[in-house]
Amino acid sequence: MNRRLEQFLAAEIAALKEKGIFRLPRVLSTPALPRVKLDGRDVIQLSSNNYLGLTTHPRVVAAARKALDEFGAGPGAVRTIAGTMTLHRSLEAALARFKKTEEALVFQSGYTANVGVVSTLMQEGDLILSDELNHASIIDGCRLSKAGRGVYRHLDYDHLRELLKTARAGKTNRILVVADGVFSMDGDISDLGAIATLCEEFDAIPMVDDAHATGVMGTNGRGTVDHFGVKDRWDIQIGTMSKAFGVMGGYVCAAKALIEFYVHKARPFLFSSSHPPAVIAACQAAVEVMETEPQLHERLWENTRHFKAGLKRLGFNTGTSVTPITPVIIGSGAKAAKFSDALFDAGVFAQGIFFPMVAEEKSRVRTIVMATHTRADLDEALGIFEKAGKSLGII
Ligand code: PMP
Repeated sequence: MNRRLEQFLAAEIAALKEKGIFRLPRVLSTPALPRVKLDGRDVIQLSSNNYLGLTTHPRVVAAARKALDEFGAGPGAVRTIAGTMTLHRSLEAALARFKKTEEALVFQSGYTANVGVVSTLMQEGDLILSDELNHASIIDGCRLSKAGRGVYRHLDYDHLRELLKTARAGKTNRILVVADGVFSMDGDISDLGAIATLCEEFDAIPMVDDAHATGVMGTNGRGTVDHFGVKDRWDIQIGTMSKAFGVMGGYVCAAKALIEFYVHKARPFLFSSSHPPAVIAACQAAVEVMETEPQLHERLWENTRHFKAGLKRLGFNTGTSVTPITPVIIGSGAKAAKFSDALFDAGVFAQGIFFPMVAEEKSRVRTIVMATHTRADLDEALGIFEKAGKSLGII
């Protein structure tokens, strides 16, 4: 190996180890279920984004199998060249119906959707205003764009208003206001009503990333636009199909003109192939399950209320969450890592989250419940949290 490279890597890895946060991903040898085998150990899973349990839902799995038999293993080309199948168009129709927008466009992932949508739309002379805790893929989309950038304090709409006012007093052309619907680290939510009102007042374009909100917020899990009743006041909805959908992929739901613009201009769409047919068909089945089996969504919320109340009762600092993502905020990265390890040894997997995903002093373990957890799973997990929390002096 190149000597400078070797030295660089050794220093980087040593720094991670010194902070006590060097760790490689644990390995699953089962599907993403409420109880999994992880690194050879049976544990209750509290770190999956498989909110509704759809990764193994019979309709979703059967749709994937059927598409594999009928359409083969891959799409054969980039979609704009020769890789758009009836399956892709039919998924896009289902997404547009579900989100109640004119059109939808599927990307390879939520990450590429955000990068493509933000960086393509916003150009020189424009301005992007972004919540300070927005997802990394939005930040990367901003970095790739030639537009100016401003960051408003988390959920602080007075601050957003100030930034909008300043921008409109100058020569700014188009302004995009972008926010996560549900914030993945804290489980709190943006106020889309407040954002829509500001966008109307200052002639800005509202965009939401509903990666953690779809399947979770709104009627049947339609997302935060539905939750806040702002469908007719909202321009761009992004999402991922790797979380509640239980599969893989990203999408943008919007007016037809915007989708046609992206089909011609969004680089992740133009220069990278789409999913295999089985993935696309599974995603469509997932939309249909959300539309027709609302009991999964109801169970998710029952479990959320039960588990969140349990953690609070035990005295953990669960921050400001109002969704199935509940952080247990510990403080230092090293202590959060220790707590996550103690939970794992006792039979619960709750991932430690450290800098750069959150600020060092907000290091935490993050818990996420699923519709498919039983009450017994959750009560057993709470018992393990109590024991580990007491033994480390956290509660
Ligand atoms: N946006 C948010 C808010 C996310 O949490 C994630 C996933 N971590 C993404 C986008 C990216 O989604 P995907 O995993 O499909 O790339």
